[in-house]
Amino acid sequence: MEKIVSLSKRRGFIFQSSDIYGGLSNTWDYGPYGVELKNNLKASWWRSSVYERDDIFGMDAAILMHPKVWEASGHVKNFFDLKSDCKNCKKRFKTEELKDKNKCPECAGVLTESRPFNLMFKTYQGAIEESGNEIYMRPETAQGMFVNFINILDSKHPKLPFGLAQIGKSFRNEITPGNFTFRTREFEQMEIEYFVDPKEADKKLEEWIDYRFNWYLTLGLKKDVLRKRPHQKDELAHYAKACTDIEYNFPFGWSELEGVANRTDFDLKQHTEHSGRDLRYFDDATKERFYPYIIEPSGGVDRSVLAFLVDAYNEEKVRDDTRVVLKLHKDLAPIKVAVLPLLRNRPEIVELAKKITQGLKKEFIAVYDDTGSIGKLYRRQDEVGTLYCVTVDVQTLTDKQVTVRHRDTMQQDRIGIDRLQEYLINKLGTVLKLI
Ligand code: ATP
Repeated sequence: MEKIVSLSKRRGFIFQSSDIYGGLSNTWDYGPYGVELKNNLKASWWRSSVYERDDIFGMDAAILMHPKVWEASGHVKNFFDLKSDCKNCKKRFKTEELKDKNKCPECAGVLTESRPFNLMFKTYQGAIEESGNEIYMRPETAQGMFVNFINILDSKHPKLPFGLAQIGKSFRNEITPGNFTFRTREFEQMEIEYFVDPKEADKKLEEWIDYRFNWYLTLGLKKDVLRKRPHQKDELAHYAKACTDIEYNFPFGWSELEGVANRTDFDLKQHTEHSGRDLRYFDDATKERFYPYIIEPSGGVDRSVLAFLVDAYNEEKVRDDTRVVLKLHKDLAPIKVAVLPLLRNRPEIVELAKKITQGLKKEFIAVYDDTGSIGKLYRRQDEVGTLYCVTVDVQTLTDKQVTVRHRDTMQQDRIGIDRLQEYLINKLGTVLKLI
């Protein structure tokens, strides 16, 4: 993990938030490569969750919602962890993580009795800070989709089963954040709410567990670092009938990337009761009105980014040197092509390399770099996972060919400039961008 944290900072993937002020603990900013990696990950999720299916619609709900939403959802009453405070050093602990419930694990001081601590961030809407104006930062994106269920029925008239998909920020005032970006207080979720006939729910849950598990595999994670872990009855959230976590074997142990849950009809019933709007679905064929069950694959963007970074990190011996290379899947790699002039003091070479970069930019994320010797430039691109390096040399000026080097094999091909675009499209396929 130390290597990942250090590479992230050194090369511009992830920085500590508010660094110049000493940092805000457990809060992270994504830098130039981090934001590309994150966007690519989200684009891939969106493609597999929305574009490649006929039964899912995209959504983007607001972070702030009516306070009654969180009463109906059960978050005001049930969304808490038990915490214990040390009377001596004042540190706060999650009770379930304490070996000795009475003694501080850090200074051996006496702990307070364990007390519930609601994980929702509270703030005020409008100019006056009074209890009537209290509002919450959403702790999950899911509720934005449940409360829009009726709007989707009325505007799209879908038949069951169908789903909604959304990517967005969520906030939880976690008692014990940590492990870099794994557990933070502000994070991004990618969630699907899939509405099904209750009779189909068990089958659809299994289908979704497999569908989501396979998504991680298609982006390059191997079966031996991924597993499905069904929840025990006593771990289930208050709304869930069943849940299976998809876990990755991080350097700090097997940990959840995503939960796939059967939320039953809990949410639609609760919102019907609290809002007074009937959120039942009308089945045209049977003329029945009923509450669908909801299957929810809920994953974390930041956790996935971290898993893919950890997984991609490789150190390889190349002659007497060690090269660090991020072997990210081609769809995830922040930069697809870097164009490098072999001699940066030859204006014709520089000019041609820049022209080639401009041409490639129409198709791919391509960059030009001449800030070091060729060896150094290759190493830098390897460290950020750039798939192809295109080198322009003296010979290029006469034979109109460039050298293309592949990141993983370091194999080099000599390609005509006029064929370069086609060559790269064949290798990379279409690159789908979300933004
Ligand atoms: P955990 O048990 O690790 O706290 P959870 O079971 O509470 O997670 P869910 O409520 O199922 O998490 O949220 C769905 C997904 O959102 C998680 O699988 C995870 O990827 C992501 N997530 C939840 N909490 C955080 C957090 N504090 N920081 C980063 N990602 C998070």
